[in-house]
Amino acid sequence: MIFDESKSLFEEAKKYILGGVNSPVRAFKSVSGTPLFIEKGNGALMWDANGNEFIDYIGSWGPHLFGHNPPFIKKALEEALENGTSFGAPTKAEIEMAKLVTELVPSVEMVRMVNSGTEATMSAIRLARGYTRKSKFIKFEGCYHGHADYFLIKAGSGALTLGVPNSPGVTKGNAKDTLVARYNDIDSVYELVENNKDEIAAIIIEPVGGNMGVVPAEKEFLQALRKLCDEENIVLIFDEVMSGFRVAKGGAQEVYGIYADLTTFGKIIGGGLPVGAFGGKREIMEALAPVGPVYQAGTLSGNPLAMAAGVAALTKIKNNPEIYDKLEIKSAKLEDAFAENLKKIGKRFAVNRVGSMSCLFFTEENVKDFDSAVTSDTGLYAAYFHGMLKRGIYLAPSQFEAMFISTAHSEEMLERTAVAQYETLREIL
Ligand SMILES: *Cc1c(COP(=O)(O)O)cnc(C)c1O
Repeated sequence: MIFDESKSLFEEAKKYILGGVNSPVRAFKSVSGTPLFIEKGNGALMWDANGNEFIDYIGSWGPHLFGHNPPFIKKALEEALENGTSFGAPTKAEIEMAKLVTELVPSVEMVRMVNSGTEATMSAIRLARGYTRKSKFIKFEGCYHGHADYFLIKAGSGALTLGVPNSPGVTKGNAKDTLVARYNDIDSVYELVENNKDEIAAIIIEPVGGNMGVVPAEKEFLQALRKLCDEENIVLIFDEVMSGFRVAKGGAQEVYGIYADLTTFGKIIGGGLPVGAFGGKREIMEALAPVGPVYQAGTLSGNPLAMAAGVAALTKIKNNPEIYDKLEIKSAKLEDAFAENLKKIGKRFAVNRVGSMSCLFFTEENVKDFDSAVTSDTGLYAAYFHGMLKRGIYLAPSQFEAMFISTAHSEEMLERTAVAQYETLREIL
């Protein structure tokens, strides 16, 4: 496969755009090589600037539950476009959108639309702080909640676990109110709550971790968090930006039967356009302006084009809940094929999967948290990534990202993927 068009576009892009990309993971830094410049997508397929065809398992990092450019979303966008692109005033589509979210995710009684997952999570934390009148919050190592300052914090050394900034530009002041616990380790949470009695406003978690590879929470762990939050007057926030409308129509909370006080959304909720949302219990949401005192706003929030695409996607989900069963069957098939390949190769690499999101870790350890995820051989992943790419399979350019299957992936494509994987594993091991 020849990638020379992408190579020259990348050189051109780097002259005007930092690192040639508008979001760092796209730069292929952790697998090296040149990012592909994409020309178009259709269903599960995507073509680069050289016209190379790929089966896409990134799906724009999660949004494309129905594959690229599905006709029903395109039609909704075309219709909305007739009436104009933005008004900065309420529209009917926003009501439809909010109703759909509250119907699909029962713990959400009221919704605020925003423009990205980052905005959703940072606003949810502000709301939890304003509502509880407390300052600190707990996050988990390996969970990603967007790039707001107070999330870019890693666990400090030592048992006290004061967070430290993991990016220049994030102040110590910001770090001091972020406490970092270990995923799937309830004792690490109890300890933080004990040491910061009556100071913790919120616990935020990805109920299915999707940003350290795929690492599902254990049910007992989420149950214990739910109980702890109730007892300590802490707002439990499920960050379902990735898992929402992905692992089930009602997200991870439907899968586990454990419900958050506030939930954040992004990715699928926008039907491919830049959208995020947060919502939850009416009582908490009512602390938000214009009803309550906690400020949050957005010039383009609830944008008519974004709402049209999002409403189309969520309506499809509401009317066709069986798509999740079909996705499960397809995803299980691919998982089985991968397991068969690994067996033939004689490796016991970890595979984690929840519905149509999954991850093959190049480690033989059981991956249940950040520490076990990073035992993966990232050099081997890079070789795997490039082996798959040249065989027409487009995976995430990082070990610590999810692989997504859409409704547009056909059986034949999955079979081709399994064959490519066997060849790649043979080649690199
Ligand atoms: C992608 C993601 C975010 C950030 O969303 P953006 O739209 O990229 O700002 C937040 N939380 C989780 C769990 C995500 O997967």
